[in-house]
Amino acid sequence: MIRVKYAFASILFLFAAVSFAQEAVTKEKEPGHYNQSKFKQLYEEFATPNTYRSASGAPGPDYYQQQADYVMDIRLDDKNAKIFGTETITYTNNSPDDLEYLWVQLDQNIRTKDSKAALKNGSGIPLGDSPEKFVGNYMTESFDGGFNIDYVKDNSGKALPYTVNFTMMRVDLPTPLKSGDKFSFDIKWDYNIPDHTVNRARSGFEYFEEDGNRAYVIAQFFPRMAVYNDVEGWQNHQFWGNGEFALPFGNYEVNITVPADHILDGTGVLQNRKEVYTKAMMSRYEQAKKSYDKPVIIVTQAEAEAAEKGFSDKTKTWKLKAENVRDFGFATSRKFIWDMQAVRLGNRDVMAVSMYPKEGNPLWEEYSTKAVALTLKSYSSHTFDYPYPKAISVHAKNQGMEYPMICWNYGRPNKDGTYSDRTKYGMISVIIHEVGHNFFPMIVNSDERQWGWMDEGLDTFMQYMAEQEFGETYPEAIAPNAKYPSRRGDPAKIVPYMSGDQSTISPIMSNPENVYQLGPNAYGKPATALNILRETVMGRELFDHAFKTYAQRWKFKHPTPEDFFRTMEDASAVDLDWYWRGWFYTTDYVDMAVKDIKKYYVSDTPNKKMKAYLAERGIPESNLRPMVYLEEYDDSGMIAPELKDNLPSETSKTLKEFMMDNMTAAERAAVKEPKYFYEVTYNSPGGLPMPLIVEYTYADGSVENVTYPPEIWRKNSKEVSMVISSTSELKGVNIDPKMETADIDTTNNSWPKKEQESDFDKMKEGIKGK
Ligand SMILES: [Zn+2]
Repeated sequence: MIRVKYAFASILFLFAAVSFAQEAVTKEKEPGHYNQSKFKQLYEEFATPNTYRSASGAPGPDYYQQQADYVMDIRLDDKNAKIFGTETITYTNNSPDDLEYLWVQLDQNIRTKDSKAALKNGSGIPLGDSPEKFVGNYMTESFDGGFNIDYVKDNSGKALPYTVNFTMMRVDLPTPLKSGDKFSFDIKWDYNIPDHTVNRARSGFEYFEEDGNRAYVIAQFFPRMAVYNDVEGWQNHQFWGNGEFALPFGNYEVNITVPADHILDGTGVLQNRKEVYTKAMMSRYEQAKKSYDKPVIIVTQAEAEAAEKGFSDKTKTWKLKAENVRDFGFATSRKFIWDMQAVRLGNRDVMAVSMYPKEGNPLWEEYSTKAVALTLKSYSSHTFDYPYPKAISVHAKNQGMEYPMICWNYGRPNKDGTYSDRTKYGMISVIIHEVGHNFFPMIVNSDERQWGWMDEGLDTFMQYMAEQEFGETYPEAIAPNAKYPSRRGDPAKIVPYMSGDQSTISPIMSNPENVYQLGPNAYGKPATALNILRETVMGRELFDHAFKTYAQRWKFKHPTPEDFFRTMEDASAVDLDWYWRGWFYTTDYVDMAVKDIKKYYVSDTPNKKMKAYLAERGIPESNLRPMVYLEEYDDSGMIAPELKDNLPSETSKTLKEFMMDNMTAAERAAVKEPKYFYEVTYNSPGGLPMPLIVEYTYADGSVENVTYPPEIWRKNSKEVSMVISSTSELKGVNIDPKMETADIDTTNNSWPKKEQESDFDKMKEGIKGK
């Protein structure tokens, strides 16, 4: 069966006597209605392109970034849970500006005794707190965890004046640091390490009562250079806890001294493996380097359990070197089990590594390194080959936190080793997510302090793809014939948030400190937006190429939101300003509905619409040249008797005959012959424009799927009417049948309206069934 949609466009042309602005007549006339607002270009919202950042979304010819190199000696006092450090920072000023001072970040100062961070929330009594959080908030003395700065000196040993402002420290320079010059200075510091299981600190220790040991996951532990760039000057947003980090790239040489019975891993390449590994560990490591299909245990559970029973007073120094990283983290404990395997990426091998206390088993030895390896492969295929030599997943209770080459992850089985599906999937997902952060923001180094979504949203989107790949790669790990149960990414998953109370929803383009619901705001919604963009708006081919272009343009650089938005359009030739505007700059939601369907027949006398048009303008009907009209059936759906002769579907006169005066025989033979005409009116109460995906069902049983481009909403974002013609009678209209668009209300998506079974009916049926 064939349906004609546009045949009349050319036929009408022959008859055209009056030019009509048909759309303008029927569309809204309310005051304040901005016809093109949803599709207006984002010139007012976007920063103006310049020589640092091009209009294409690529780094401009004058793009620069600062460099901060660190040489550090770190000492852990395991007995007292204290950490000491001395560091030499060499700062290279690649900017065109001379700098009178340098800003250094002191993130641990969020935990000074008098920190205002604990006083930042004014939302009153919470719905509820976890016991740990409650104890932390109301039942303990506030912990003294801020930096103690011993000195800040230049290389000649001369003290440099400095001023601490909460989590930032300004170091005043003797003379301005000229563009292109370097400055080296030394800082000595220490602080008390917090128990990270209290108040969910991003780093610290977990104490294990049974054996009296701590497992440390240490980060934000040294004074770190703030970012200075063409967008913000010095980054000057304090660390309040939610907005994460903004850091320049640099090279690190870090020597970490810990008890001799500790196992340690961190950012960078170990420089003195033979000094810190046993012989057994060395030979297992050599095997792991050649093991591509499964991990090799480097430190066994038995060895870790034996180490737990002691407490060495001797020390060992682990020496790590990292190139081109934006941060440094490490984990250390005598409790750690350790495994590794090789992953082939391009023509290089990368090590996938896991470190976990026995409390993580049996889950961790089964899944952690598997998940690390899969993540590196999956993310590399969508961006660039993972450039670092290793990626480590460390098990730490309740943690999900990322650093270059290393991250902390939750997922702890019950004491007896059993675990729920929820724990298992939670663990695999968090590992994929945190290892994935190596790409965004550790390498594609966006400003997390300002834009949580640029790393969390992109990463959660990539996580969704990797999780689905995990399910396909390890079907035995998930339920039979099921997809991996991703928590975020599927359009339907974001509906509860987007349909929620607007007073607690902010646009994605918000600072992470300023939003009520950071999870859906910075993770779920952008991930869904990108997923829909890929699957439904752009298609995989265009999306994947553009996304990869963004990743490759900005790896080892500092992109802004505009760099992302512009690159996605530049590399695909898809104007997406309307999409960024709707999904990222507003809290509009998707709700598309079938409003009305009217049936029409073909006629050669002016229809009601034309009559009204002529009357309004005082044009006599006789002025019209012959035209074809679609006339609406009367309200009862019956045909006006005097018009019956004109109805090709109802009489012996065919549509072709009806048209014949104006067509040659050849033209008539080539024209298809629809019998039914409908005007289907759709509306969009949510206001977020989307492709309108419609499934039409006809009386002859055929089904037609039409995807109208989002541009149908460009002149009127509230309502559009589409004319369809068919050889069979229309029986059903269904919007978004596969639930691709995150439409928040599907009860208005169908014609005829689908009866919604009430809960009461369902309950009754349930009772009957028993
Ligand atoms: Zn994250």
